[in-house]
Formats: sequence, C-alpha cells, structure tokens
Amino acid sequence: MTKKDRESGASASPETILTHSGRASRDHLGYVNMPVFRGSTILFETLDELENYKAPYRYGRNDNPTVLALADLVSELEGAAGTVLAPSGLSAVSTALLSALSAGDELLVTDSAYEPTRTFATEGLAKLGITTRYYDPRIGAGVAELFTDKTRAIFVESPGSLTFEMQDLPAIAAAAHARDITVIVDNSWATPLYHRPLEMGADIVMHAATKMFVGHSDAMVGTVSANEKLWPRLKRTHRIFGVTISPDDAYLTLRGMRTLGVRMKHHNETSVEFARWLAGQPEVEEVYHPALPDSPDHAIWKRDFTGSGSLFTFRLKPRNRDAVAAMVNGFQLFGMGYSWGGYESLCIPFNPSNIRTAVPWTARGQLFRVHVGLEGLDDLKADMAAALARYGSISA
Ligand SMILES: *Cc1c(COP(=O)(O)O)cnc(C)c1O
Repeated sequence: MTKKDRESGASASPETILTHSGRASRDHLGYVNMPVFRGSTILFETLDELENYKAPYRYGRNDNPTVLALADLVSELEGAAGTVLAPSGLSAVSTALLSALSAGDELLVTDSAYEPTRTFATEGLAKLGITTRYYDPRIGAGVAELFTDKTRAIFVESPGSLTFEMQDLPAIAAAAHARDITVIVDNSWATPLYHRPLEMGADIVMHAATKMFVGHSDAMVGTVSANEKLWPRLKRTHRIFGVTISPDDAYLTLRGMRTLGVRMKHHNETSVEFARWLAGQPEVEEVYHPALPDSPDHAIWKRDFTGSGSLFTFRLKPRNRDAVAAMVNGFQLFGMGYSWGGYESLCIPFNPSNIRTAVPWTARGQLFRVHVGLEGLDDLKADMAAALARYGSISA
C-alpha cells in the first residue's frame, strides 16, 4: 500500500492493494514499478553493519527487495502474517507441508487434489516417515472421524483440481482445530479476490502463482502464506531448505498481479457464461462448475466464495479416442497444455479414474478441463461448437 493509505489506516479493497502494494516508488527514483534487483551479494561498509542482523537486506537468497515486495503484496491480499515464495506451485505445496509435518506424523489430503500434490505426499513425504490418507472432498465435518492421534495436517483444495468438488472449509477447520491439526489450503482457483481461506480457519494458504497471479504463461512461481500461529514455522522451514525464486520471476509475478483484479472479473463472467452455454449443448452430459446453480457444490461456493475462477470441467457422451482426437486436433483457439491461468484459452482431455483412491470416479464419458481465457466469448463458443460437432460426428 502507499504510505498515505497506511498512515490513514484505510483498509483498501483487493483491487487497490493489487495496484498500489509492493511498489515503493519513492525509494526508486519515483519509478512506478519495483525494479528487478539481480544479485547474490549485499556489501557492508563496517563491522557494525556486517553484524547487524536486523538490517533488512543481508544475502540474496533470503532478502531480495523485488521478491519481498511480492511476498508483502500476497500477505496483504490474503490477510496473512507473512508469505514466502517458491520456484513453482508444487514447491509451495511441499514447503507448506514440510513446515507443518515431522517424521511419524500423518497427513490427510483431499482425493480431488492436484495430482503432483498427491505424488509429493505419497512418495516425497513417505521417504520422511510421514504417511498420507485421502478423504472424500465432500466429507465436511465428518473428517473428524478420520483423525488419529498422529494426524497433524490436512490439505484442502477447493474446488478440487479436475473435478471441482467444493469443500466445507469452515467445518473442516473447526474439526481440525479442536485437535490442533494444521489446515493448509490450495487457493489457486479462486485467488484471494474470491476466497479468503485464512478468514475461514485455514492456517496456511498457498498458490500456484504460475497460474492466475503470473497470468501470462511466462513464469513458474509459488506462494505460501500463514497466519500468526504458523508463520514462524513456515518462515524457518523455507529458510533452512533454501527455497528461493529469481527477482526476474518475482517481477513478472508482480506485473501480472497488477491486472489480476480486471482479469478475475472477466474470468468470473466468462467462465460461468461459457459453462452455462456448454450445459445446453447436445454432446455434453455434465458440467462440473460450482458457480452453476444446479451444481451439488453450489451452496458452499455461494456461501464461501465471492466469484468464480476461469477453470472448470465438462463431460461428453462416451465415444472413442478418434472422436476425442477429431475434437481437440481441430481447435482453432483453444490450446492443449498442462497449465491454466494465462490470457489464452485451454482445453485438455483427462481421466480422473487413474488418480482417485478414496472416492472412485465412475461417471462414463470423456472429461475435458477448460480454462476460459480473454478471447471474445462468441469466438470461443464458435470454436467449441465446431469441436463438439466433430466429436459427435464420429460414432462410438
Ligand atoms: C498448477 C497447480 C499447482 C502446481 O503449480 P506449478 O507452478 O505448476 O508447480 C498446484 N495446485 C494447483 C491447483 C495447480 O493448478
């Protein structure tokens, strides 16, 4: 925030924080943007300076001004005690989990979590003697029945990657806190503009900043923010493991975030409108989008979120692989790629039944995940309508 806002104690809207925080223009010759401070070494003039551990900048890995400006911006948005940055969203996941868990502990992870999050838990944490169990994303307060004396953390992703089930975060957090279990939330879909997990009982919230924060498909970054209770552990874990990001990537993330407010406003409108339109197409069996009123997850979304992310899934009538190939190979606008959050629209086919373990996926028919980008919505509808016609023209 600007000095003036801070002095007046004004609590600014997220859109204003996004445009004004993390700039410190007056410290940088008046330039609007925080410069990229490339460097490892910070020079000290005297022995007193060298030994002053309170000095804000001491070594590049920990104290880069461009990186810290991004961390402060994210903390302000999430209402967090502090934020650390990681070189990818997955690194943010692992940093969050390692700050909450030790050997012998047990972790609960939603069955709908991003697949590499699961792999880190079942392979990476297993190496450290930490066990993971998966739970039904719609379990709500019933999660308490899964807790054992060893359960130390629960990982929530709402809505879930690929299948978009919503989770009752306030109920899960209340159950967890009764047992002093740390609640970690992946908030990449909604961003802090539309969902504020720390206010609903989460202890740690992380983002694949690669997606919406960066917003232009040109950098990999992760963020992890914590409440007062978890912040010392998160900060220490981040430091001792040597997790760091380049100031260039921090700069790209800051630049992306300046327009996050308008981008999310646009995504909120177009993703819901596109989902509604898809639900009416003859080849479409089901649309998985919590902002649609007939979604089984709509009530929680409406209660806990103030808007919708860009990403959702739809299921088509069962046909063969040739039909899927005909559909996706002929896209003019939708790209196929394992990411989302950029300005460009994406659509990929996937199959959750290979991934899930707690709640087997049984619905028949091909699933597609779509990221509705910033193109004209009518052009996207035309591209998808032609794709659905190609799909339907090949008999199963
Ligand atoms: C992409 C993604 C991640 C991981 O982010 P990377 O930057 O690709 O490592 C984590 N969570 C969710 C929900 C994601 O979509």
